[in-house]
Amino acid sequence: MMDSRSRKWTITGIVSLVAVPAAMAVTGQAPAAHARTRPAAPVAQVSSSARTNMSYALYKARGGRITTGFDGYVHTPGRHEGIDFARRLNAPVHSLVNGKIIYIARGGTGRAGLSTISIYIAYLRKTVIYLHTAPLRTLRTGQSVRHGQVIAVESWHGVKDRPSAHTHVEMRPGWHKHAADSTHDDRLDNPNPGPFWNSLGYNVR
Ligand SMILES: [Zn+2]
Repeated sequence: MMDSRSRKWTITGIVSLVAVPAAMAVTGQAPAAHARTRPAAPVAQVSSSARTNMSYALYKARGGRITTGFDGYVHTPGRHEGIDFARRLNAPVHSLVNGKIIYIARGGTGRAGLSTISIYIAYLRKTVIYLHTAPLRTLRTGQSVRHGQVIAVESWHGVKDRPSAHTHVEMRPGWHKHAADSTHDDRLDNPNPGPFWNSLGYNVR
């Protein structure tokens, strides 16, 4: 018969081996929680096979893909400050992080109607910004969101035409209401977000 001490050890072992990336994404507090059971390992050591692809997590469905990577402009003048994903018009878009909504611009379809949802992650001092979606009507500034929560549907707010509907996901160090300038701006403001997304348990793919 298993005594309570070995049972406890078994449970924490499972948490450490299996649930850490997910727990981190859920609570946003994994380093602290993790440290209780064993010395915190650098999260970037989570193997790529243990991570979730962003193109899946954003839609919680297959069929999403990266259409333009970070700093990946080929024909567009400027520097791309985020990562573009696309699945289909009106596909539900899920938050990839836990945080607080600090800014919403709803915009409208067409090039002039850029939309923005900015989510600040206080414990990381980073902002994750979504562009071009149609934010949910119920979304409010000041609201806390959890990773996996639907925040919008894919659309073409600030995009030239309907077939080009996509979702731009951008990480910025610090607190920012707005995305960095991308098109027609030659300065790259944001760092490569790869290590950030890896640390939250995501593959940039
Ligand atoms: Zn973009």
